Amino acid sequence: MQNIIEISYFIAAILFILGLKKMSSPVTARGGIIWAGIGMLVATLITFLHPGMSNYLLMTAAIFVGGVAALWSGKKVAITDMPQMIALYNGMGGGAAGAIAAVELLKGEFHSQTFLVLAILGALIGSVSFSGSLIAFAKLQGWLRRPLRFAGQQFLNIAVFLAAVGFGVLIIVQGEFNGTIILGFFLAALAYGVLMALPIGGADMPVVISLFNALTGLAVAFEGFVLNNAAMIIAGTVVGSAGTLLTQLMAKAMNRSIGNVLFSSFGAAGGAEEESVEGSMKPINAADAGIMMAYADRVVIIPGYGMAVAQAQHKVWELAELLIKRGVDVKFAIHPVAGRMPGHMNVLLAEANVPYDRLYDLDEINPAFPQTDVSLVIGANDVVNPTARTSPDSPIYGMPILNADQSKNVIVIKRGQGKGFSGVENALFFGDNTRMLYGDGQAMASELIEAIKEF
Ligand code: NDP
Repeated sequence: MQNIIEISYFIAAILFILGLKKMSSPVTARGGIIWAGIGMLVATLITFLHPGMSNYLLMTAAIFVGGVAALWSGKKVAITDMPQMIALYNGMGGGAAGAIAAVELLKGEFHSQTFLVLAILGALIGSVSFSGSLIAFAKLQGWLRRPLRFAGQQFLNIAVFLAAVGFGVLIIVQGEFNGTIILGFFLAALAYGVLMALPIGGADMPVVISLFNALTGLAVAFEGFVLNNAAMIIAGTVVGSAGTLLTQLMAKAMNRSIGNVLFSSFGAAGGAEEESVEGSMKPINAADAGIMMAYADRVVIIPGYGMAVAQAQHKVWELAELLIKRGVDVKFAIHPVAGRMPGHMNVLLAEANVPYDRLYDLDEINPAFPQTDVSLVIGANDVVNPTARTSPDSPIYGMPILNADQSKNVIVIKRGQGKGFSGVENALFFGDNTRMLYGDGQAMASELIEAIKEF
């Protein structure tokens, strides 16, 4: 029996790794999710064969409740709400690791001190990731709009963190599994997750979300050692290392260090609401914007979160194809944190069959803007905000942006005066070379198509 269990875990681990590999390209990502899902199914079902298992009814009920909730939410969730859902699932992983540790600590039967230390580490990291991810979820859902900052915050955070570590050390040193100390340990760890995530806002959320992702993986791997469960160790390590790489990439994309993201804005005075930009926004209609684009030699299309909201990707590609047929050189500029999850724009454009060789990342496209006749910004805001380059007081200062403002003309499609995720006013919209095409992304792309067809 033990052999069957080990072989099954090995197969599950291979499926996780191959699934993750496939997820690295939009072409194979769907298959990757299925492979990893099958791996998870194998790992879950094999648990029933473990010697000493007796709570089959509870296990079946838990799998049923979790499975139905996941199926229902997976089918129901809008593609634009996917990032919140990922933050929530991520938190659940951390919470599950913490819950496993809680059960083991209350049982108090550890083979060696090493396992106890690993259980405590996994519990600490998992609990922080759980409560922090819930705050990230609330922020992405729009329930918590502003970062919460107050005087002495950094000291409170350090104190709560040290309290959690202190309780953990006490459990390890005493070797006694006192319920009150264990409760204190978990409460302090959960509180630290909340306090750590609350002050982070604006454009820094992508880094934090991927950091929690990495922490969840690490927590699961630690608890895998405690339970001697190979699937958990391998899955946790894979998630932990992929999450760490993603965190580094996201931090690099924001031009921030992880420490800077987590601690720099503490106690910062001022805020996004105090920003103001001189000038006015100048509207344009679709007919005039269409003519401008049809006459252009070079057009760069910059999609952002609003394109996802409008589900405008198919219309945008139809518009691009029309321009390409007229001999216009059309490129798509992809900012690494455009949208609400890593690769958001790539996924949407791949769905609309935009060829990959038309997609350019930040470093590739930025030198091309001064020679660009028209930059069409569709539902993007923070990622094209020149304030990040010019205003040291801005919360997004230092974040690399797409330099659309340097092109000869800019057309911005958005519904109204809505701000971006960071809440910072966008100087690009007030530029002399910028015209605002107000309306829903999909509707305006359709109007541009009609305008160019009639032209
Ligand atoms: P933003 O969130 O900055 O701006 C989106 C803009 O789209 C808004 O100004 C809004 O203006 C407009 N919009 C909304 N709905 C529509 C619609 N139906 N049609 C047309 N326009 C619409 O988006 P960006 O992509 O520029 O930037 C992403 C931001 O999200 C960054 O700050 C990033 O840090 C953050 N973030 C990114 C994550 C990631 O992993 N990629 C994760 C978490 C946060 P209006 O209301 O006037 O229409």
